[in-house]
Amino acid sequence: MHKILVSRCLLGERVCYDGGSHGPFVLLEEWRRQGRLVAVCPEVAGGLPTPRPPVEIPGGQGTRVLDGECGVLTVDGADVGAAFLAGARAALRLVEANGIRLAVLKARSPSCGNHENYDGSFAGRRVPGEGVTAALLRRHGVRVFSEEELMDAVTALAALEAGEDAR
Ligand code: SF4
Repeated sequence: MHKILVSRCLLGERVCYDGGSHGPFVLLEEWRRQGRLVAVCPEVAGGLPTPRPPVEIPGGQGTRVLDGECGVLTVDGADVGAAFLAGARAALRLVEANGIRLAVLKARSPSCGNHENYDGSFAGRRVPGEGVTAALLRRHGVRVFSEEELMDAVTALAALEAGEDAR
C-alpha cells in the first residue's frame, strides 16, 4: 500500500501558527482509517512552538530558502529559516523511511504550500511559489498536492497503485 505524507493541521491537529487547525476532510479520514497516512508538521518538527509568530518568505520562493539565498522572516525581521529547513529535512526523512511518492500539504503555507505563497510583505499579497518543505520534497521526486486538490491526489494515487508512475 502506498503511503501519503499529510500536513498534521489538515487532520484537525492544532499545530497552526495561531493554534488552529483545518478540516475535517472526509477523504483524509478515509485514508487515515486505511493506515495510509504519515502525518507531519514541519514547523513543529523543526522545533518551533505553537502558537508562534506568522512568517513569510521574502519573494515567496521556498527553493531560495533551500539554496541559502534568503531566510524565513517574522514581521519583526527575525529569521526562523533554520527551523524551517530542519522541519523540511524531518519530512524528507519520513518520506524516505516510508517510500512515499505523494503528499497532501496545506495550501499557501511557508512550509507546506505547493503553488502559491505570501510575498514577504505581510500585506496579504500572494505570488507563485512553494513552501520550504514542499520545495524539498519536490526536489526528491514527491508529487505534492494541497487540500484543494484532493481529487488530483486520488487520481495520482490510483495511477501509482495501478503501477503507472504518473510522476
Ligand atoms: Fe504545520 Fe504545515 Fe500545517 Fe503549517 S501548514 S501548521 S507547517 S502542517
